[in-house]
Amino acid sequence: RLSGKTALVTGSTSGIGLAIACALAREGANLVLNGFGDHASAVAQVSALGADTMHSAADMRRPEEIGAMMAAAAQRYGGVDIVVNNAGIQHTAPVEAFPVDKWDDILAINLTSAFHTTRLALPSMRERGWGRIVNVASVHGLVASAHKSAYVAAKHGLVGFTKTVALETAGQPITCNAICPGWVLTPLVEKQIEARAAADGIGIDEATQMMLREKQPSGQFVAADELAALVAFLCGDAARQVRGAIWNMDGGWVAQ
Ligand code: NAD
Repeated sequence: RLSGKTALVTGSTSGIGLAIACALAREGANLVLNGFGDHASAVAQVSALGADTMHSAADMRRPEEIGAMMAAAAQRYGGVDIVVNNAGIQHTAPVEAFPVDKWDDILAINLTSAFHTTRLALPSMRERGWGRIVNVASVHGLVASAHKSAYVAAKHGLVGFTKTVALETAGQPITCNAICPGWVLTPLVEKQIEARAAADGIGIDEATQMMLREKQPSGQFVAADELAALVAFLCGDAARQVRGAIWNMDGGWVAQ
């Protein structure tokens, strides 16, 4: 159980992040939510599970806003014990046509924000003698797909960052691991399915089946709740010697 612990989940107003926040709330943690869109309903959903919950609208592209979010969390809870770096965006284009501002945004949100939350959370984790950092990477932290240069570069970077932090914290009860999901049906992937349907002149169902068939041998999506259960395990005591693990849950994607 995580009673008395405080968890920050970046990008937790939607999709995988919201499922992780709910799973950690069920374990008894206080929750610091973050992300854009309908944050009131995310806060209501997590609070309904009994968690003391706050929300920060910090933009993960901006280090000063990340700093303010960490300070607000520390003021309310005395520090953050669990950091789940989940916020992420996608943009697809051939590398020579990749918009420079999209490259910068993807590197900032999907990689650099994890550096900022980690460097800001670690001092109080070390002081309190316990910590869990879970980075939501991707199969694209391990293998590539065409037209995803920024995303693949950021996620490979996040995998390397995870291993480094795991080594730097190995002497303390603080762990750092990454999870690598395959296709999960969230707004991030729905946009890619719509783009594929439009590009190929096919329906949504056909585009969905095509995308699963191409990459995910199970032919099924990974569920956000399944990923959330893995994160809850990594945050528990039984996982205290799981350090620097890069753990895929991908329906067989990277086994090929
Ligand atoms: P999503 O679009 O449903 O959720 C993304 C979340 O990030 C939202 O809460 C959004 O508000 C937030 N966000 C976006 N930009 C932000 C910013 N600048 N500052 C703060 N918050 C911001 O996407 P998802 O599919 O749930 O993705 C969550 C994570 O999982 C991402 O890191 C993504 O790369 C990763 N992932 C997703 C899949 C998949 O198939 N969906 C697969 C592998 C990895």
